[in-house]
Amino acid sequence: MLCLVVVLPVLWILLVCLESEKPVIKADIPAVSMSIGASKNLPVAVSDGKRGLRKIRIVIEKDGKEIPLVDKEYQKAGFFSGGQNKEDLLNVLIEPAKMGLADGKAVLRMTVWDHSWQRWWNGNIATIEKEILIDTKRPEMDILSGIQNLNQGGSGIVIYRLSEPCEKNGVYAGGNFFPGYPGSFQDKNIYISFFALEYSKGPGTEIYAEAVDGAGNSIRRGFKVFIKEKKFKKDSINISDEFLNAKMPEFNPAVSQDSKTPLADKFLKVNRDLRAENYNRIKELVKGAEKSLLWEGVFVGFPNAKNMAGFADHRDYKYKGRYLDNQVHLGVDLASVANAPVPAANKGKVVFAGDLGIYGKTVLLDHGYGLFSMYSHLNSFDVREEQIVEKSGIIGRSGSTGLAAGDHLHFSMLVNNIFVNPLEWWDASWISNNVTGKIAAVKSGSN
Ligand SMILES: [Zn+2]
Repeated sequence: MLCLVVVLPVLWILLVCLESEKPVIKADIPAVSMSIGASKNLPVAVSDGKRGLRKIRIVIEKDGKEIPLVDKEYQKAGFFSGGQNKEDLLNVLIEPAKMGLADGKAVLRMTVWDHSWQRWWNGNIATIEKEILIDTKRPEMDILSGIQNLNQGGSGIVIYRLSEPCEKNGVYAGGNFFPGYPGSFQDKNIYISFFALEYSKGPGTEIYAEAVDGAGNSIRRGFKVFIKEKKFKKDSINISDEFLNAKMPEFNPAVSQDSKTPLADKFLKVNRDLRAENYNRIKELVKGAEKSLLWEGVFVGFPNAKNMAGFADHRDYKYKGRYLDNQVHLGVDLASVANAPVPAANKGKVVFAGDLGIYGKTVLLDHGYGLFSMYSHLNSFDVREEQIVEKSGIIGRSGSTGLAAGDHLHFSMLVNNIFVNPLEWWDASWISNNVTGKIAAVKSGSN
């Protein structure tokens, strides 16, 4: 009995009070380098599952000086008990200018102690030390390309030089972001950004280039843009029961296949909801565009084809004489003979070849730098994803799969995830004035 009276407290002291488990520090610190700009909020989670937290100290050490960011002590519940806090979450605000920290290398050190009796009541210690770079200087950006003429629903290009590598850089046009790509010039700091002006956005749309460095410092630059307003065609399409009967079963399970839902309601579901869903899929597919420029020269169309419908035609859909829906046609409809071979508009990588709802059998090509072409309503396709196809290489045969009444090719182009007018890319002089000419001018230094 006496034995237990002595042994139990000793065991308790050894196992509980003298526990040797270190506290844990968790902070979102990148493995490579960490840059700190004008201000940085660093969430730090600390915990100690056994005796609890005693103290945390976070400092920045620079040029031999130590600047404290956090000095916090955690109370003990009683002499023999551990700490009251097992975990804590701190938001550490680092503001170099206010703290008198100049730009340059520094060390961020985080130390946590627990309430163990280890090391003569000093507790177990955990430390994270990280070399950081204080960089409060914003990057510089020079716009190298000249005046930009832009059509509503059209494409544009901006070429710029950055003074330092920037994680995010590109063009904002009407709120849409279009990344810039390096690698087309000897100077690795020169970037090209292809951008698009949505068909629905006209003169007065805000367009600028922006770059943000690793520390979060940013620069914005405007450039001269002339936006040409475009009037789009208005079209009216009559939806017949014959068309609905022939087409709606294809959209199983996108639409209810019960016999009670009126065909017109099924059509609405396809034309609105499935269309939106398909666009979301396209937006996913164009992410992670090829970082090299695969295409060259003018884009080719669909040989011996008649232009049946244009880009951004505004369509009213009518059923038995009454208005049903309206949608905008974001491609060009080209009709040749049935089952005609469809050529790739330019060299590109297949990022999708499959069924895409209203678009039916579809092939999507990535031409690099965010430029894509899409071929829809195909009867069949002869390419597989990841395959590189050459310009004019046959990718499939025309058909009427998806929401198409007759055999034709629905051809679309996108810059990033915005549909643009393909007519520009089929026009050799547009390409030379707006794309290749501008790249050449920067290369020769005449801009
Ligand atoms: Zn179409």
